[in-house]
Amino acid sequence: MHDSFSLSRGKLASFLTCQRQFQLRYVQRLPWPAAPLAESAQEMLARGQQFHQLLQRHFLGLEVVPAAVPDETVRRWWSLFQQYRLALPHGRFLTEISLTVPLGGALLNGRFDLLILGEKDGAAFAHLFDWKTGKARSEAALRQDWQTRLYLALLAEGGAALLPPEQTLLPEQIAITYWYVTEPDAPRTLHYNAAWHSQNWAELTVLVTQMAALDAQEAWPLTADWSACRDCAYQVYCGRQGAGRSPDSIDPDAEAIVTDTAMEPELP
Ligand code: SF4
Repeated sequence: MHDSFSLSRGKLASFLTCQRQFQLRYVQRLPWPAAPLAESAQEMLARGQQFHQLLQRHFLGLEVVPAAVPDETVRRWWSLFQQYRLALPHGRFLTEISLTVPLGGALLNGRFDLLILGEKDGAAFAHLFDWKTGKARSEAALRQDWQTRLYLALLAEGGAALLPPEQTLLPEQIAITYWYVTEPDAPRTLHYNAAWHSQNWAELTVLVTQMAALDAQEAWPLTADWSACRDCAYQVYCGRQGAGRSPDSIDPDAEAIVTDTAMEPELP
C-alpha cells in the first residue's frame, strides 16, 4: 500500500464488508463486470444525482427553474426542500467540497454536499449538511454510520485548514445534519465532541493499521458472511457463486458505496 492510498467512506465500507473485496477492488484494481442494475434502480440513482446537482446549483447562488427539471419526482423533492426551509446557520457556504487528511499510510477523504463555516460566540464552527433521497434512518443508526464518523473526524482533524489562520476548530464546534426527502420536516442533527472524536480516530487508525499489515499478504481474508457475497462482483473469482444474488434493490443514498463496490471498477 503506497503512501498516498486514499480512503473514502465507500472504501471503508468495502473493507469492513470483506477484506478480500477491498484487496481485489482497490489494491489489485481488478475489474470484474457486475450485473447491470434494473431500470428502476438506475432511475433511483439518477434522481438522487439530479437532486444533489439541483441543490448544488441552488447553494452556488444560481437560479433553479422547476419547470426545467424533467423528472417529476425530483421536482417534487425540490418543492419539499423549499417548503420546509431547513434552518441554516449564517456563514460561508461551500458545496461539494472535498477534504483530505493523512492518517498513517493513508489519505482519508470525504466530499461534502454542503459545508457551512462561520463564527458563533467568538468561536469557529463547521456544520455539514447531507441530502438524502432514500429511506430515512434514525439518529442512532446515523451516529454509527461511517459516513458520519469519517466526515466529522475529517473536519476535526483537517477542517481548520478551511478557516482563517488564527482560528481553530474544536470537535464541539462541528455538527452534521441529514435532510431526507422522505421526512422533510425532521432533519437529523448530530453534534460532535472530543470523546467521540477520540473513539472515531482510534478506530480509523486501527483500520488503516490493519490494511497496512494485510498489504504484505498475498490473499486477504474472505468474509465469513456469505450474504455479503450476494452483492459482490467477485463471486466467481472467490468461488462464492453459491451465495446467490440479492434482489435488485438499491439505496440511492449509498451512491458512493454502490459506485465503489458493486457497479463498476474505480479507476486509480
Ligand atoms: S465474493 Fe464474497 S468473499 Fe469474495 S470478495 Fe466478494 S464479498 Fe468477499
